[in-house]
Amino acid sequence: MSDDCIFCSIVAGEIPSRTVYEDDDVLAFLDANPLAPGHTLVIPKDHHEHVQDMPNDLAGDVFAVMHRLVEPIESAVDADGSTVAFNNGEVAGQEVPHTHGHVVPRFDDDGGRPIHSIFGSGPDLDDDELDDIAASIADDAED
Ligand code: AMP
Ligand code: ZN
Repeated sequence: MSDDCIFCSIVAGEIPSRTVYEDDDVLAFLDANPLAPGHTLVIPKDHHEHVQDMPNDLAGDVFAVMHRLVEPIESAVDADGSTVAFNNGEVAGQEVPHTHGHVVPRFDDDGGRPIHSIFGSGPDLDDDELDDIAASIADDAED
């Protein structure tokens, strides 16, 4: 548990939440300021700031709970789909420094936009740059 972490306080039961799923390692609860009805957050119970800080198994457990909840969440609010995403790091809009996945129900007429709309036009990368980036990622991912 990290001091002054609002999500650790929720895990500890010091702050109430509308819990929708809980097991030994993962907790899911309704977002207090929902972007849509049913907006749910899924967190590891242990404090990890970023997605990549979680051990592999825990990351799998968190995603498994998101996977398990998407259908019940969409059903509960009769959604047409959902945006499933992590804001990973302050620069990406992460406000609570305890990693959390969002499941935000989407509706045909909600006026919301796809994740791609976060960005304007993307960078212009030539083939060599793309090859270098792909090779670097592939090398690191093997470790
Ligand atoms: P992010 O910008 O990805 O860090 O998202 C943080 C989310 O946490 C926001 O959608 C907030 O509405 C939500 N949030 C903050 N405090 C609470 C709380 N006490 N209970 C439930 N959700 C919260
Ligand atoms: Zn925390």
